[in-house]
Amino acid sequence: MGLVDDLVQAVDAGRLRDLTLALVRIPSPTGDCARVADSYAQALRSFGLDVVVEAHDGHPRSPSVVARLQGAQRGPTLQFDGHLDTIHAAHAPPRFDGACIHGRGAADMKSGLAAIAEVARVLAQADTGLAGDVLITAHGMHEAPWALGETVRQLIDAGHVGDAVICAEGSHDELPVAGKGLGIFELTVRREGDAVHELAAPADLPHPILVGNRLVCALEAENIRFAETVLPYDLGSESTFIGVFEAGDFYNRVPTECHIVGTRRYAPDRAFSKVEAEFRGLVERVAGETGATIDARFWRQRDGFELDPETPVAVALRRAYAQVHGRPLPLAGMKYVADSSVFIREAGVPALQYGTGLARAHADHEWVDLLDIVDTAKVLLLTAIEYLGVAA
Ligand SMILES: [Zn+2]
Repeated sequence: MGLVDDLVQAVDAGRLRDLTLALVRIPSPTGDCARVADSYAQALRSFGLDVVVEAHDGHPRSPSVVARLQGAQRGPTLQFDGHLDTIHAAHAPPRFDGACIHGRGAADMKSGLAAIAEVARVLAQADTGLAGDVLITAHGMHEAPWALGETVRQLIDAGHVGDAVICAEGSHDELPVAGKGLGIFELTVRREGDAVHELAAPADLPHPILVGNRLVCALEAENIRFAETVLPYDLGSESTFIGVFEAGDFYNRVPTECHIVGTRRYAPDRAFSKVEAEFRGLVERVAGETGATIDARFWRQRDGFELDPETPVAVALRRAYAQVHGRPLPLAGMKYVADSSVFIREAGVPALQYGTGLARAHADHEWVDLLDIVDTAKVLLLTAIEYLGVAA
């Protein structure tokens, strides 16, 4: 189809390079993305989109960009979503080396935002409109541990949700159709009184390190039980992981506290409330057995999700990928967590993760290949055309 070929040809590598680099040059650590939001809004406005920069209660430096490209005909709305913030980690100055863009946020996910903007530009400047709208949302408060997805949830609550969503972050050569949920726990074992000499401690004094050890053993026993159930799409099993165990300050003193922090990854279809109840039950059991006080904090990072690969937006993206790459797009499990699960579980709409590649996300040296950004923009553009259809 000539029209579609012309649109794909209009995807401009130079523009994608320049916009990615411009966004990467504006630092936007989580909690502070106002400047990059303004810059992104300005780019979308220059293509003729209706753009607002929306403030959020409680997050004054993390506004969102909400932009709409009206179709030539009424129809469904396809939403492209991305996050504007990056992790708080220093990086060498941004640069383009002739093939790749280097800098904090290049892969995660300013190149994805640039790809979305390029799709919008091509569609806005095309002679033929689509049979439905394109909605673009870009928000901060994404990256943990600094945020939990607070502003994307405010956008959903405010009604900025399409009939289907593509979060332009993640792999560019597979489509996640199932993902695990992630909870993070923080346990503090406490006992009354000060640190005391081991010889001065009463026999029944709870020892925080030993109580901590009981917790670790109980959590490890859960892992053995979890391993009996293998999840689909290579997701492995549910798991508990301990990343921090801290206690004690001297070889012959009984400490007053032990601190344990870790992750709990759970099956795609499970509710966080059930997982939390199960976890708190385990902690209460150890507290009862040892007489120690254990403070447990447990919070949801993102839920797991399942996606029907035959849902129209997934079919559209798979067709688009096959047109650009000449081979089918493999379906896969997603081990990390991302915003598509928020749309699927909390907004009730189908949502895909498809970006410019995440291999270098969060790395000390972060970069993205310009060719991958170009290909992703083409896939996203064709997906919009496939999903919405061309106006009659
Ligand atoms: Zn990201």
